[in-house]
Amino acid sequence: MSPRPSIVVVGGGIAGLAAAWELSGGARGPRSDGPRIELVEGSSRLGGALACEVFAGRVLDLGPDGFLARRHEATTLADELGLGERLVPIAASGASIFLKGALEALPEGLVLGVPTDYKVVKSMKGLSWMSRWDAWRDEHFPRKLTVDGDVSIGAILRAKLGSELTYQLIEPMVGGIQAGRVDELSARSVFPALYAAAQQGGSLMKALRSAGGPSGLTAQRLLGPLFMSLSSGVGSLVEELERQLRERGVVIRLASPVTALRATPAGTYPWEVDTADTSTGASAVVLATPAPVAGELTHGLDEGLAALRSVTSASAAMVTMVLPAGETTLPPTGTGVLIPLATQWDSDFMMTTAVTFLDRKWEHLRRDGEILLRAHVGRIDDRRSQVLDDEHLVARVHAELVSVLGRVGTPTATRVQRWPGGLPQYYVGHDEMVAAARRALAPYAIRLAGNAYDGVGIPASIGSGRHAAHEVLELLGLSS
Ligand SMILES: Cc1cc2nc3c(=O)[nH]c(=O)nc-3n(C[C@H](O)[C@H](O)[C@H](O)COP(=O)(O)OP(=O)(O)OC[C@H]3O[C@@H](n4cnc5c(N)ncnc54)[C@H](O)[C@@H]3O)c2cc1C
Repeated sequence: MSPRPSIVVVGGGIAGLAAAWELSGGARGPRSDGPRIELVEGSSRLGGALACEVFAGRVLDLGPDGFLARRHEATTLADELGLGERLVPIAASGASIFLKGALEALPEGLVLGVPTDYKVVKSMKGLSWMSRWDAWRDEHFPRKLTVDGDVSIGAILRAKLGSELTYQLIEPMVGGIQAGRVDELSARSVFPALYAAAQQGGSLMKALRSAGGPSGLTAQRLLGPLFMSLSSGVGSLVEELERQLRERGVVIRLASPVTALRATPAGTYPWEVDTADTSTGASAVVLATPAPVAGELTHGLDEGLAALRSVTSASAAMVTMVLPAGETTLPPTGTGVLIPLATQWDSDFMMTTAVTFLDRKWEHLRRDGEILLRAHVGRIDDRRSQVLDDEHLVARVHAELVSVLGRVGTPTATRVQRWPGGLPQYYVGHDEMVAAARRALAPYAIRLAGNAYDGVGIPASIGSGRHAAHEVLELLGLSS
């Protein structure tokens, strides 16, 4: 009699948890003849970048505080887990940008920060006449650029719209998604709409404008009503997944970093997944770890997988503060402020790249007399947030906020959360590298999942985990 199929998921971030959910039957629930499922997590807690705790009388997300609802994966999973009633829409829209020492509301007509009309640029006081000229010229006499193969987002933007628009207006938004630099991030993987617009060869702004249409991803829509959260915290997705996966009989092991993945042709199962003190036989494996770990575990199978080890990640920190409302001035509307990277601060550059007004975004976080605000600190080439201690980081961020917002009272509570290496960078050629890795793994019952491959963000990570699980079930002839 052949043994009961055994599937091991390595990595208990949201991608690995979503994979385990799908493997254990997803919305349909477990089958009596289903496989044995084991999820092995290296750290002492599940969730990876998702975590929440009680802070100043609220459940505060320490990592992501919301997710794009334009993609269905996160809302669908919340519904399947019975958390649908806790889904809450974002309660504000719009944002400001800090340009030339002043705050300015971002106008309509931006696609991820890229203007789609000369008038948009003309309306912005913090941009120079040079930017206006660059935008006017793109509309009337677009600069030539041949896009053949993947290029950086920055290469397209600088060539078509000039440096000021690239670094002052667009990078704060595009770079903010992955805490990366537009000069390194892949246009094809990170901003496909820009890549497609550049390939048309004419005006970048016009091409984006016609591609955007009524469903276009304008800045207002990105920061606005397309986002959702959970009133119990985004991190409650993880708690509920853990509870229900255990109920379904999924074996969850914490503090057990996987050290090796070995082919065992003569064994009961074709694979063994090793930790420091265990070996689990597996018919199939879902690797939902950061890419370098997946590369380390698999490069012996095929040299094409070694490239996964080169995926670098940016470190970030989130500094959350409760501020006295009467002593703090915020822009009249909007969910936050973007700060261009080279914004001068004393003899240095600002560390804060963005500020989120958490209690404007989410009604359930509001308390009378208080402002709940979060500063985002750190980029791929700025690791200052990882070396400063909490006290100095809070003091520095507070001082920067004073120069951005004007009046900022003394915080009554603060919370610093660091995310070392939390945001993978999709550099030029990323999609080809991922496709090559997947081709190399195709002959084996091993699949990759997580935010290093199919897009950064909670919905993409959930989608990636469920897709990998689905493929594995099909490979084993277990899909219903
Ligand atoms: C600061 C920050 C803010 C963000 N904000 C948002 C937001 O607002 N909205 C949004 O949608 N997304 C946001 N994201 C992105 C989103 O959180 C991630 O894309 C998503 O959580 C990634 O999930 P994952 O499972 O792919 O990876 P991870 O969460 O990184 O999980 C990987 C897991 O693998 C484990 N692991 C590593 N090595 C091993 C090993 N050898 N053995 C076993 N386990 C191992 C790790 O411990 C970890 O638990 C943010 C991310 C960060 C860091």
